[in-house]
Amino acid sequence: MPLLDDDARSLPRVILSTRRMSENKTGNWRTMRPVIDRHICTGCQICWKYCPEACVKLTDKVPAIDMDFCKGCGICVEECPKRCVSFVPEASV
Ligand code: SF4
Ligand code: SF4
Repeated sequence: MPLLDDDARSLPRVILSTRRMSENKTGNWRTMRPVIDRHICTGCQICWKYCPEACVKLTDKVPAIDMDFCKGCGICVEECPKRCVSFVPEASV
């Protein structure tokens, strides 16, 4: 999370994590999760390119999302050109 100094003209300070991605598992705080409609997905890989957690895997024509690492940010939902990624509440799964 970028930090801001009190001075409004200052640039955000970014703290980089030194932890490996494999240690960055999602806790039980995620409230929404992406679900891909396999019948509409074209396999364009846009979701794979945009996912900041690198948890979209391209093992098949339709990508698979590793929910152990997905943070539920919704970027894949927004960026999918076919609008085939739904955002559903965790409680409903
Ligand atoms: S961005 Fe959408 S259409 Fe493209 S691979 Fe991902 S889910 Fe499928
Ligand atoms: S919701 Fe965010 S973290 Fe999860 S697969 Fe989509 S882009 Fe990646």
